[in-house]
Amino acid sequence: MTHPEIAATLSRSTGPLDDALAQLRQAAEALDMPDGLHEMLKVPRRELAVSIPLRRDDGSLAVYSGYRVQHNFTRGPAKGGLRYSPAVEIDEVRALAMWMTWKCALLDVPYGGAKGGVAIDPRQHSQAELERVTRRYTSEILPVIGPEVDIPAPDIGTDERTMAWIMDTFSVARGYTVTGIVTGKPVSLGGSLGRASATSRGVAHIALHAMESRGIDPAHASAAVQGFGKVGHGAARFLAEAGVKVRAVSDIDGAVYSHEGLDIARLSEHVERTGSVVGFEGAEPIDPSYLLTLDVDVLVPAAVEGVLTSENAAKVEARIVVEGANGPTTKDADTILRERDVLVVPDILANAGGVVVSYFEWVQANQAYQWSERDVNDRLEERMSRAWHDVVSRAGAHDLTFREAATEIAVERVVDAHRLRGLYP
Ligand code: GLU
Repeated sequence: MTHPEIAATLSRSTGPLDDALAQLRQAAEALDMPDGLHEMLKVPRRELAVSIPLRRDDGSLAVYSGYRVQHNFTRGPAKGGLRYSPAVEIDEVRALAMWMTWKCALLDVPYGGAKGGVAIDPRQHSQAELERVTRRYTSEILPVIGPEVDIPAPDIGTDERTMAWIMDTFSVARGYTVTGIVTGKPVSLGGSLGRASATSRGVAHIALHAMESRGIDPAHASAAVQGFGKVGHGAARFLAEAGVKVRAVSDIDGAVYSHEGLDIARLSEHVERTGSVVGFEGAEPIDPSYLLTLDVDVLVPAAVEGVLTSENAAKVEARIVVEGANGPTTKDADTILRERDVLVVPDILANAGGVVVSYFEWVQANQAYQWSERDVNDRLEERMSRAWHDVVSRAGAHDLTFREAATEIAVERVVDAHRLRGLYP
């Protein structure tokens, strides 16, 4: 698509892209940004749409759509995850790519933002089929990725095995091993210690900061976590370790509740055995949509976008929402939660632990040296706390929501970098 075509699509956008563009617009106005610069940041620098033919195990042929959107390169190579989900579509990928730019800038890691996606349901495919899809997708986007260009990582529906296939496909094409092409790799292939738990560890750090800021003692606090995957599972575990009663968790199949707090270690064993939180003994089954409105101190939506909406935001009982997922709160829900004085800690801060340790992984690949897990965790905590305090002080000084403050800080950093570099030619 040409720039005018992309710009025209953007003006008709709904869903997460609409929310992302509204956040950028607000920051652009607050920062008094020239129109041209605002226009530049609205539109991704580069997008690639590919079609991925797959020879299925039964010999038939299926075709899937894949994307890589690179929103910005001003502060460094583009960076962001790769999502496998039937819900993937280009506008969602554009929104997620833009949020990656702000997340990297807010955490001050030297990257721009990108996101990839394939419109496929990984649960319907064998491992061999997923490997073929991944290798074909990688070879299609090969010209636009690289350790100095754009570095994929796991997201919904992908994992360290997916990253190993991408690394291998890219390395075979280059003729030598390139460990810095992806992050979130298996540790035995140059992955970082602490990467697998980094996003959820970061979510827990931020949730604890948020509780402290509202005078809530974790030992007397309760939480509900939506999603029990890469982010939600660890977030529930770390919150429980900090003394918080995690009363409810959900996954794609259902939700479970215990007023006394779930035994997360036992729940993990159950999930390991059965593949779902459903049927966990010592907990009651509840309607998953009910989880969002439970009477708890902290709500952690850690599944997908757009779950807190104008329909349910007025019913949220939690005093703090920590966005483990990207974009779980719609624009309208944000307004309602603000009016109700619910503290919403935005995704670009709350779930940034993943990309922070991705950055550490890339640094380790560049250094060809492995850091200890303790080093990784300490440096992660330091960066998350620094970003938390940056957001708190900006929000306090200008009477902003945390999302407004976080977005403004991030956009300002990207704009400053752009001004220093100047426009070529
Ligand atoms: N997919 C994760 C996110 O949304 C991690 C991205 C990365 O590590 O590059 O932040």
